[in-house]
Amino acid sequence: VIKNLAVVGVGLIGGSFAMALRAAKGIAVQHITGIGRSEANLLAAKRLGIIDEYARDLAAVEDADLIMVAVPMGAYGQLFSALELHARADAIITDAGSTKQYAIQMAEQFLTAPGRFVPAHPIAGAEHSGAQAARENLFEDRLVLMTPTAYTESDLVLQVSNLWQLVGARVVTMDAAQHDRFLANVSHLPHLAAFALVNAVAKESEENPFDFSAGGFRDFTRIASSSPVMWRDIALTNREALLMSIDGMQGELTNLRRAVAQGDSEKLLHHFTQAKLARDGWLARREREVTGG
Ligand code: NAD
Repeated sequence: VIKNLAVVGVGLIGGSFAMALRAAKGIAVQHITGIGRSEANLLAAKRLGIIDEYARDLAAVEDADLIMVAVPMGAYGQLFSALELHARADAIITDAGSTKQYAIQMAEQFLTAPGRFVPAHPIAGAEHSGAQAARENLFEDRLVLMTPTAYTESDLVLQVSNLWQLVGARVVTMDAAQHDRFLANVSHLPHLAAFALVNAVAKESEENPFDFSAGGFRDFTRIASSSPVMWRDIALTNREALLMSIDGMQGELTNLRRAVAQGDSEKLLHHFTQAKLARDGWLARREREVTGG
């Protein structure tokens, strides 16, 4: 039983977490308070039945036994200093933020008991934001990466992990630095590449590129419709890993550029074949894992 759940940031992720927990069998959530900045969004969340009541002041976490932080990374500092003031000493604080070393840093900096903070990151989402985009089944069959530190209280890690499993997610535990490096490659770099591609094309032409493209441009750029604030904050809070990923991509582009400039057919074929083999191989391996074959 969770008597009082407080969700700070009732957007896509926080809203979906509240809905999923409420719908989950095997746990009863008695009361959900939504805390955020936008009155319109909180009101929508209440109307949609995602939360029971809302507040714009973080003092409203004072009764919560579980606090889910689901705000953009840039809000973490202020937020944790307010949680230190207002949260119950025995409350579990967890989050869904996209960059884990920074989340842990903020907990260490502002909480006197950072061991009560359980860092986690659901690998589920969409390019839509706000409470209206929340879905009860967002986390079903999705991965949740948990990145506890050496001092994170292990019984709390277990409790939060159980919650994610109750809403249908698979939990994997890893080191926060490793998480940030992986995610820089598979999530943060692709988003930057999508933003860059759209901007490059927009500068180049006044035509609507969707008029002249098959699925490729639309597929590749879907994530460029994501929240700019969220992505600014991710870029600023995972700089070291992201710079390495950008350098890797820039190196590949430079090689491709050279091959195009030189009309080097062999090199182009080699690059494209290598990438195709790697991707096809990953997909086949994943297929085998999923089907158990
Ligand atoms: P969202 O924009 O849908 O929701 C964020 C909510 O936080 C908004 O309702 C906003 O009003 C509120 N908010 C912003 N600043 C605040 C502050 N200072 N205090 C209180 N509330 C504040 O975003 P989202 O997609 O739900 O993302 C939330 C977090 O989850 C982010 O850290 C993001 O990096 C992470 N995340 C996102 C995805 C995704 O695909 N969208 C996936 C996994 C993790």
